Amino acid sequence: MSIHLTEGLLSGERVRLGARPADKQQAIAEAAQLLVASGCVDAAYADSMVRREAVANTFLGHGVAIPHGLGEDRHLVRRNGIAILQVPAGVEWNPGQRAHLVVAIAAQSDAHIAILRRLTRLIQDEATLARLASTDDATALIAALDDPPAAADAGRAAEAVDLAETVEWTVGYPAGLHARPASRWVEAARAHAARMQVRHGHEVADAKNLLALLQLGARAGDRLHISAEGRDAAAALARFRAVIDSLTAQEKADAALAAQRAAQPKAAGWTPPDAPVCIAGIGASPGLAIGVVHRLAADEAPIPDHPVALSEGGTRLHEALCATRQQLEALADDTARRLGAADAAIFKAHGEPLNDTDLITLTCQLMVEGHGVAWSWNAAVERLAAKLSALGNAVLAGRAADLRDVGRRVLANIDPSLVRDALGSLPQHCVLLAADLSPSDTATLDTTKVIGLATAQGGPTSHTAILARTLGLPALVGAGAALLDVGDGTPAIVDGGSGRLYLDPSPAALDSARASIAEQAATRAREAEGRRQPALTTDGHAIDIGANINLPEQAATALEQGAEGVGLMRTEFLFLERARTPSEDEQFAIYVAMAEAIGGRPLIVRALDIGGDKQVAHLDLPHEDNPFLGVRGARLLLRRADLLEPQLRALYRAAKAGAALKIMFPMITSVPEIQRLRAICERIRIELAAPIVPLGIMIEVPAAAIEADALARHADFFSIGTNDLTQYTLAIDRQNPELAAEADSLHPAVLRLIRMTVDGAARHGRWVGVCGGLAGDPFGAALLAGLGVQELSMTPREIAAVKSRLRGSRFDALKGLAEQALACETAAEVRALDRSAA
Ligand code: PEP
Ligand code: MG
Repeated sequence: MSIHLTEGLLSGERVRLGARPADKQQAIAEAAQLLVASGCVDAAYADSMVRREAVANTFLGHGVAIPHGLGEDRHLVRRNGIAILQVPAGVEWNPGQRAHLVVAIAAQSDAHIAILRRLTRLIQDEATLARLASTDDATALIAALDDPPAAADAGRAAEAVDLAETVEWTVGYPAGLHARPASRWVEAARAHAARMQVRHGHEVADAKNLLALLQLGARAGDRLHISAEGRDAAAALARFRAVIDSLTAQEKADAALAAQRAAQPKAAGWTPPDAPVCIAGIGASPGLAIGVVHRLAADEAPIPDHPVALSEGGTRLHEALCATRQQLEALADDTARRLGAADAAIFKAHGEPLNDTDLITLTCQLMVEGHGVAWSWNAAVERLAAKLSALGNAVLAGRAADLRDVGRRVLANIDPSLVRDALGSLPQHCVLLAADLSPSDTATLDTTKVIGLATAQGGPTSHTAILARTLGLPALVGAGAALLDVGDGTPAIVDGGSGRLYLDPSPAALDSARASIAEQAATRAREAEGRRQPALTTDGHAIDIGANINLPEQAATALEQGAEGVGLMRTEFLFLERARTPSEDEQFAIYVAMAEAIGGRPLIVRALDIGGDKQVAHLDLPHEDNPFLGVRGARLLLRRADLLEPQLRALYRAAKAGAALKIMFPMITSVPEIQRLRAICERIRIELAAPIVPLGIMIEVPAAAIEADALARHADFFSIGTNDLTQYTLAIDRQNPELAAEADSLHPAVLRLIRMTVDGAARHGRWVGVCGGLAGDPFGAALLAGLGVQELSMTPREIAAVKSRLRGSRFDALKGLAEQALACETAAEVRALDRSAA
């Protein structure tokens, strides 16, 4: 018998009265059997329910327990259903807690939240529950359940036991397992039915639960045990591993870039003419702005505890969670359009707590204990956030702030009067001061009113800082509590470059800051104006300017920024960003699309450069103790025809289809390498009857630079990878943040190798480009042009400033500058030439 209000969730066949299980385990087994017998779940679900008890508390309160399977085992659920085991004498669920009604739940996907809302109706009052615990009328029980049951998922293991299939994994992410990669882990784990968990010492997390993963507090170098069991566990684990490995390169690149930026000497910037009162913090987003202080009062009003009927509380929570999810989706969408996909991804990770079963279960348990919905939600958020903060890890502390941010959004949806809209009424030209600012507040700031930000807490890598940089808002963070004593309306100058907030500046300081702002704006405008012009020096020498982009979608921006072609397309990202090797056809489509996207302009495609910091798990390459000195770049290509040949075929097919491309090989160290690669190219070209394509090599190791004249006989062009050339010349791991400041491409030794490369190439009439980081630095670009480099390729946003620098220089002077640099003894001396440079 099925009753209509329960929409088939509960039927008489799934109610057992007067049960007398010996213990909790038997109670679960009996309840599970009711679900199995009525076809709701596979038999293995019973075991999953038992295992869930080891990782979560399913005792809801008031004599009701809600055992259910693990989230990963949802594939064992054939249809949503509820079974009730009535235990009049009660069965001990936890020490001191007896269950009289065991409500076993089988729920697919996120149905558990809806079911939970219904269950709350059952336990509204103890008198009803007492009656139901001993009734001998199943229909009474069903009628009382009326609009019934459900569950919550949950989280963390008490016992550190690995599952059947296990791999060990050392965290290679320099910033540890923080929210962005962790949300990719969750996505990857959820793609599989198998149960998957991650163990860090004695701590265990469900790999499908973001907060649980973050609470592992895994830092770079920590060893994790990742395990899986259930359907296709081994394959699922291998694919999961491939995904998490594939994130390593990007994480390292991000960290190296952050370290490089942090180590870069601060731009000369603005110095006040006098000594205004100043609060110092950490520069988070460069730029200078003048305004008046507006302090964002902390939202410290206590959340009142107004208990409501549980059914109503459950409904309100459910609706608030749904509304918040929609708002975050809209915010991500808007952010993607205004600021780009990378910034929008922040909100993807941000919405995860809304699916966090620990958080929702805890909220429901608090409501069952008699607390109001808003109070319960807030308390649950605070408990989890406090736990994250207590791990003593700055990154996780940042995630606690994110959790509170989402928490506030949900609160506002439960009851708008609980959360003040402090950002709704801002004065014009305000420098916003706050203890901290949430990412969603930052993304939605009205930039017609806010001209700068300063926060007492936070760090330069926080999401708020990232968003401020994208919005172009000068910002400083970590300025300390003194910041919050500054009175509203105080005139201020914020310098996001030096991380300083100047208060009550004198008229002279204001004049000077205004002049500096005007000068910076004029410079940017001038640079932007000339970005479509060729990089022609005042005496008529032209330098080709390319963009370093990897995907056709990036081409429009690159061209808009003034790129004249693509000087480096790093194809390894096609391999890194997916958990499998792209097929020849897929590669062909991308190369053709890139050529089309840049409208037939020059395109240099670099063959797969794997190894070193770019590891691709699905290639199953052997472990190397020192991968930067191992089977990397061309060395790997020559050992793996299965990778090289499909790529070359795809490239030659693209050339045959009309793409004006050149092929470039990475990490060449000797003549035989290029000879062998050339021979393979020629064989494939002939097989495909494709046109001749220029074949170039990267100059990234001292051996190649020193032997450039010999290599030039066999290569059609060179492109110098200054990132690697610097690391190999100076013997500094390019990922080492400690040495980032010393890994300076302006080191005279690197410059001399560049000169040798140019000279070697000239002997055989070859041209030389540079696609490493030095090409995107205006001074570096000027020096490279002076050294005889003919093409420079960089990230698109660097193009305007580089072109402007070259267009304002005389080639003669640049050559002189290069000679002076080659004569310097240190990188610092070379840098000092910038002030006197052409
Ligand atoms: C370089 O080494 O400078 C370069 C452009 O290659 P990658 O950064 O991809 O190693
Ligand atoms: Mg390189």
